[in-house]
Amino acid sequence: NHVPRQVLVTGGAGFIGSNFVAALLASDPGVRVVNLDLMTYAADPDILPRFDASGRHVFVHGDICDAELVARLLREHDVDTIVHFAAETHVDRSITGPGDFVRTNVDGTFVLLEAARQAWLAEGRSAQGRRFHHISTDEVYGSLGPDDAPFTESSPYAPNSPYSASKAASDHLVRAYHRTYGLPVVTTHCSNNYGPYQHDEKFIPTIIRCCLAGEPIPVFGTGGNSRDWLYVDDHCRGIDRVLRDGRTGETYNIGGGCELNNIQVAEKLCALMDEHHPEGAPHRRLISFVADRPGHDWRYAIDAGKMREELGWVPKENFDAAIKKTVDWYLASRNR
Ligand code: NAD
Repeated sequence: NHVPRQVLVTGGAGFIGSNFVAALLASDPGVRVVNLDLMTYAADPDILPRFDASGRHVFVHGDICDAELVARLLREHDVDTIVHFAAETHVDRSITGPGDFVRTNVDGTFVLLEAARQAWLAEGRSAQGRRFHHISTDEVYGSLGPDDAPFTESSPYAPNSPYSASKAASDHLVRAYHRTYGLPVVTTHCSNNYGPYQHDEKFIPTIIRCCLAGEPIPVFGTGGNSRDWLYVDDHCRGIDRVLRDGRTGETYNIGGGCELNNIQVAEKLCALMDEHHPEGAPHRRLISFVADRPGHDWRYAIDAGKMREELGWVPKENFDAAIKKTVDWYLASRNR
């Protein structure tokens, strides 16, 4: 079992990373966090002050591809734990501009691994008490057909977008650093997250934004593509379980056991928005089908049996209740 003390979080000003930092600082008073984030368009500067109040959070505005900076942070803060969220994450952007995805997701992960190897393993040092936790996605496994069994940790890799291919490449580097150098790594593959602080461009915030503006809600193709949805707090609890008690060199799939297709998600959100604005026409009429995404994966589903059996993790939230909380948060935060 691993006890994190000096934690370098990458991408901690983004959606999942910021929720994770908040949960970690609140749940473990012995933890200090160095939060390295490039503050790309995806980051939210408004969330940083709430961490600083803990006195155990240091924000560093910088790039995970900057090898000198990363090495210095590991040394100066005597980092024992790296939780690596930083990535380019939007599939549509990876189709129009894949270069940034390869740079941050592949090169950036390499820089972090190499810095950890130098800091933790060089000159006969022991990696005892260290841990590198790589945050990955179920998208690396490609697409399921309607009758296929959900992804397990032994599902073959078959990434279809530049985003998922770049994440797959980073996963392979993480695995290799364990097998070749003995770096103490764990990797988690999670399904689609939703909750507070997700960037506007993602599916659920887009639906809410379009409802508020009375604009068409873009749904790819027939709307039949289905995803396994997980509330972000459940993901963060799963990461914490694996970080502390997962076995090094292992991978863990984290999923909500909640498969919904895009049209179902859009309709549920429209119904909630109807409750908030009962005077308007039903929001459902805003749903508008648009040309499908090239190479669009049909279905992702996760078998989270290993998380449940080995680590006792199960999701706590159910979709209908947690999506309601999420909508309430977006409505309340509009004027923040
Ligand atoms: P996000 O896009 O909301 O945030 C990414 C953060 O990384 C941003 O704050 C950004 O500024 C930062 N960043 C980007 N490039 C950087 C660089 N070169 N150096 C330092 N920081 C950089 O992403 P998210 O949705 O929170 O996803 C976080 C991680 O979880 C990613 O690795 C992603 O692949 C993975 N993941 C996400 C989901 C999901 O549903 N959102 C599901 C499974 C896995």
